Amino acid sequence: VVRDPNENEFLQAVSDVMSSVRPVLDQTPEYRHHGVVERLVEPERIITFRVPWMDDMGQVKVNRGFRVEMNSAIGPYKGGLRFHPSVNQSILKFLAFEHVFKNALTTLPLGGGAGGTDFEPKGKSDAEIMRFCQSFMAELFRHIGASTDVPEGDIGVGAREIGYLFGMYRKLNNQFSGVLTGKGLGWGGSLIRPEAAGFGCVYFAAQMLATRNDTLKGKTCLVSGAGNVAQATCRKLIEMGAKILTLSDSSGHIFDEQGIDAQKLDFVKRLKNIRRGRISEYVDEYPDAVYTPATPDQDENPLWRHRAQCIFPCATQNEIGKQDAYHLINNNVKLVCEGASMPCTTEAQEIFIDKGLLYAPSKAANAGGVAVSGLELTQNSIRLSWLGEEVDSRLKIIMKSIHDTCLSAAETYGHPRNYLVGANISGFVKVADAMIDQGVI
Ligand code: NDP
Repeated sequence: VVRDPNENEFLQAVSDVMSSVRPVLDQTPEYRHHGVVERLVEPERIITFRVPWMDDMGQVKVNRGFRVEMNSAIGPYKGGLRFHPSVNQSILKFLAFEHVFKNALTTLPLGGGAGGTDFEPKGKSDAEIMRFCQSFMAELFRHIGASTDVPEGDIGVGAREIGYLFGMYRKLNNQFSGVLTGKGLGWGGSLIRPEAAGFGCVYFAAQMLATRNDTLKGKTCLVSGAGNVAQATCRKLIEMGAKILTLSDSSGHIFDEQGIDAQKLDFVKRLKNIRRGRISEYVDEYPDAVYTPATPDQDENPLWRHRAQCIFPCATQNEIGKQDAYHLINNNVKLVCEGASMPCTTEAQEIFIDKGLLYAPSKAANAGGVAVSGLELTQNSIRLSWLGEEVDSRLKIIMKSIHDTCLSAAETYGHPRNYLVGANISGFVKVADAMIDQGVI
C-alpha cells in the first residue's frame, strides 16, 4: 500500500490472496523468513514503452504499452495482452498477479505476467489495428520469447490481433516459435484455445454442482460480456442443456426470456467477431428480447437484477458489486462462476461466501484459457497438432484437478467448500515453495 497507494485493482488482488494465506504464513515460518510475500508483490520487471502509429487520415497517434513480468519461479511469464482505454499499470499488475496463482493451479510450468495498452480498438479500421499491432510488437519483441515470456489474448486482443502481433514478431526475429498463444490453426495454434476459458469455466461450474448431486441441465443462467469468454461459456452452457438469458457489452445488456440458443449465439458471434457491432443490435434481429443501456454512474448493474440460478460474469473486473450481489441473493442464485478476471468486488465475494453459494473465483474458474495456452506451447515444442477431442479431454482433466485441489486445500486449512481460500492457498504454496528452493533472487 505504501509503495503503490493508487493502484486499487492491484491492491484488491493482493489483499484477496493475502487474506486467504495468512494462516499458511503463520503455520510455515519459512515463508516469512525467506521474504516470500514481499518478493511476490513486487514484479520481477515492468516494461513501459511508447507505441506510435499512424491512423487512416495520416495523423500520428501515441499510446502507452506495458508488459508486467510478475513471477517466473515455476515457468516463463505467461498472461494476456489487453487493448482497452482503461488499461494502466494497476490493472496490468492485478492481471499479472492473478496469473501467477492461476497458472500455478493449472499443473503446467507457467509463470505469471500481463501486458497491454490504453489503445481503443473499437471503431478502428483493420489497417489501423494492423499498424498499431506492428508498432506495439516493434518494442515488445525484445522482451518476450518462447522460454521467456509468452503473451496471449485478453480484452480487445483476439485472433486478428494475435495474427498481426505474431507476424511482426516473426519478421523481427527471423524465427517461427511459439512466442504467442491463441495463434491461427494453420500456423501453430491449438484447437479449443479460443474456447478454452469459457469451456473450462462451465466444466468448473459442473464440477461444483456435482458436489451437490446437481447438474447444469435446465438451469437458468445470466452471462455478461459478448466477447471471447462469454461466447464460449454460452456455447458450452447450451450443450449442457442450460438456458441463457442475458449477454452484454460496455454499452448495455440484452435479456432474452426465450433463451439464447445456438442459432442466436451464431448471430452474436458474427455481430461481435466479424461486423464488430454492438449487442444492442441483437434486439433488431430478435425483437422479443429487451435491450437495457448500461448505467456506469450507478453502483449497480441492471443485468444482475434478473432472476436466474447460475451467474457467469464474463466481461471485466469489478462488474458485480455489493448491491448487485444482494439483488442476486434475493433472487435465490445458487452458483457464481467467474469467467472474467476478478469480476466480483471483495464485498460481493464476501456476500456470496457468507450465504453459502457455490462461488468460484476467476483464478480457478477461468484457468482453462491459460491451461490450453500451455498445451499449445507443448504442441509447438513437439511440432504436432492434437485433435480437438484430445485437447478438450485434457482441459476437462485440468479443470477437475483445479476443482479438487481447491476443495482439498480449503478443507485442510479449515474453510471447507470455500473455493476462494482453496485456490489462493494452493497457488501460493506452489509458487512460494519454488521461490524458496531457488534462493533469494
Ligand atoms: P473480449 O474483448 O473478447 O470481450 C470483452 C467483453 O466484455 C466485451 O463484450 C466488452 O464489451 C465487455 N467489456 C469490456 N470492458 C468492459 C467494461 N469496462 N464494462 C462493461 N463491459 C466491458 O475479451 P475476453 O472475452 O477475452 O475477456 C473477458 C474477460 O475474461 C476479461 O476479464 C479477461 O481478463 C478474462 N479472460 C480472458 C481469457 C482469454 O483467453 N481471452 C482467459 C481468461 C480470462 P465492448 O465490446 O463494449 O468493449
